[in-house]
Amino acid sequence: MSASLIVLPASLALSLLTSATPAAKPEASGVKPAATSVKLTAAQQSAAERLVGGALAEGHAYARLAELTDGVGPRLSGSEGAEAAVAWALRSFQADGVKAWKEPVKVPHWVRGEGHGEVLASERTRGHPLELLALGGSAPTPPEGLVAEVVELRSLEELAALGEKVKGKIVFVNHDMSVAEEYGHAAGLRARVPAEAAKLGAVGMLIRSLSTASLRTPHTGATHFEAGEARIPAAAVSVEDSMLLHRLLAGGAVKVKLTLGCSELPDADSSNVVAEVRGREKPDEVVVLGAHLDSWDVGTGAHDDGAGVTMVMEAARLIAKLPQAPRRTVRVVLFMNEENGLRGGKAYAEAHAKELPKHVAALEMDSGGGRPLGIGLRAGDGAKAMLRPWLAPLEGLGAASFVDAEAGGADISPLIPAGVPMVGVKVDSSRYFDVHHSMADTLDKVNPQDLARTTAAVAWMAYALAESPTPLARPEAPATPPAPSVPAPSAKASGT
Ligand SMILES: [Zn+2]
Repeated sequence: MSASLIVLPASLALSLLTSATPAAKPEASGVKPAATSVKLTAAQQSAAERLVGGALAEGHAYARLAELTDGVGPRLSGSEGAEAAVAWALRSFQADGVKAWKEPVKVPHWVRGEGHGEVLASERTRGHPLELLALGGSAPTPPEGLVAEVVELRSLEELAALGEKVKGKIVFVNHDMSVAEEYGHAAGLRARVPAEAAKLGAVGMLIRSLSTASLRTPHTGATHFEAGEARIPAAAVSVEDSMLLHRLLAGGAVKVKLTLGCSELPDADSSNVVAEVRGREKPDEVVVLGAHLDSWDVGTGAHDDGAGVTMVMEAARLIAKLPQAPRRTVRVVLFMNEENGLRGGKAYAEAHAKELPKHVAALEMDSGGGRPLGIGLRAGDGAKAMLRPWLAPLEGLGAASFVDAEAGGADISPLIPAGVPMVGVKVDSSRYFDVHHSMADTLDKVNPQDLARTTAAVAWMAYALAESPTPLARPEAPATPPAPSVPAPSAKASGT
């Protein structure tokens, strides 16, 4: 718990926030801001005070995040930490009076092992250590390491143009991601270059870390080899060391020694944690609130995705405490294995396939613990008009408008073919990639007030979706189901 949290009575916190913060900005989409003249009923106003006020005043989400990050720690799929997180989530829901259970998921069990890299000495340098982290899914090097010349490139097209010139070399992807919006493109390179380079005979792959700030901290992430594809060692190098490699390569050949002790163990038994507050009128109609319980094995996954986990857990806790449950069921799903397999998202969609026509909305929080900016949608005609009257309690949070960004999320993407409407609470992710997937993703990077504000927005949107007399119109199902397990190189920032 942070000493900077101010504990106020819920109703006072709500009125202070509502009166002291500027009105929501006009929407970029050109749609008029939320109509402030629409009045909520007394019962709805009371629910808003309890949900928004409770999230802002009680500091519960941040305390939970401290338990998950400082208590449980990192929780990569297949690890003891991941199973400790499952047990923690079940205990926490029980303490909150929210019914919860486990659903089985088989997960990949990749283990990092040791990792070292160095630029070897030459006539132009006395050599340098490289700060790096193996990519999830990377193959190991031989125990004694591998030594090879480095070939720099920036795209899959450049790789294809080089062709067999990369044979026997370490391919170095020196992309130019500098802002959050460029993450999706760079993540596509991280996912696919190792497999494509291996086909051409490359013996290793290095990629500049996908980050928007660096104190020589490498950022890991997933790479992907299809079954039967050749696997090579692959690692993310700190931004500073990537710049060093670039400078040295400008002067001639550079040799790197890479030692990675990764191993791929048999798939492990794990679980999604599912919890719900049953609806009072239509319990078979379900609003899903999702976040992912797994994290990378470095840092403690505070922003990714401890923040999302605590937001959706807190939404369920606050909704369960209301004097009257909303009409529909609010179901929290803490997905396992978002980071390196998406097995939890796929398992949920398969296990609940028969219920999906009555999933009235899905909302996933996986873009860090920043402040809320507005509401995104992926739904049928009339969805904005239906939701607009419900946005008023978000005005004090600065989130009472629709944003252009389409709602979605990796774990709920397998629900798209069933036409489940998606709703998103868009958060400020501008600094998310400073720490994402790195040793620096720790509790101290999460601002308690920002976390509380977004938690309030999530709790209220969950209530609105579950309480609204009519559900959102369903979007048309795409002709070809998307649900990629890895972002395509052209994908926009997904923040996963
Ligand atoms: Zn994530």
